[in-house]
Amino acid sequence: MKTFQLQFKFVFISVVVIFSMLLCVGWTAKRDVSLRDFLKELTVVNVKGNQTQSVVWLPFEFNVRAIGDDVKKQVDSPLKSYLIFMVTCSIDHGGSRTCDSWSQIQNRAFLKGISAAPLKPLTMVPVELSQKLEAIKTVVTEGGASAADSHMIIFDVNDPNGKALVDTAKRDKLTLVLEASDSFSKAQFTWHTPFDALIDAGTCSKCGEKIRAQWYYCPSCGNKL
Ligand SMILES: [Zn+2]
Repeated sequence: MKTFQLQFKFVFISVVVIFSMLLCVGWTAKRDVSLRDFLKELTVVNVKGNQTQSVVWLPFEFNVRAIGDDVKKQVDSPLKSYLIFMVTCSIDHGGSRTCDSWSQIQNRAFLKGISAAPLKPLTMVPVELSQKLEAIKTVVTEGGASAADSHMIIFDVNDPNGKALVDTAKRDKLTLVLEASDSFSKAQFTWHTPFDALIDAGTCSKCGEKIRAQWYYCPSCGNKL
């Protein structure tokens, strides 16, 4: 009886493993990555009245491409140890505009973690990052006037328990919150992974519609993906 149970367990586990592998079969890495499309996917804009709050999540996969580094050679890159966001909060006064400073944004920003405790940004920009951040910012803002009003907010890639806050290789999500202040309303920014700019998820096995790797269900036919 015990042997039968063990065999059953083995077969069950094998079926689960094979099934999970099949689930991911449709995903392929895109050969040609469009930096412009990637940036669009990473940018979330929140407009309320005359307030515009925008956040660009700058994940490792984007940053190495933006500064022209070889993705495969970047095993020990300092960029991997941090979650980096470029935040711009502006108020249009009809002709002129005012923007939140770096420290004002720092005070308002937190990441939603796995536990209830909100995670605050690092109070100092790590030295090994500063040069790379400048280069990335130049690419994102195309050296335009908005660069001075865009601020880099940095978090540790792990929560206090050492668990990664987001796994970009899997279906996952990341949420940054800007608390309300005297000048701005509260705003929430959420990103879903894996990134469409990097992953081609193929088509739905049931109805053939083009699908995104982030989806759990096909929106056309309801098929579980
Ligand atoms: Zn479908």
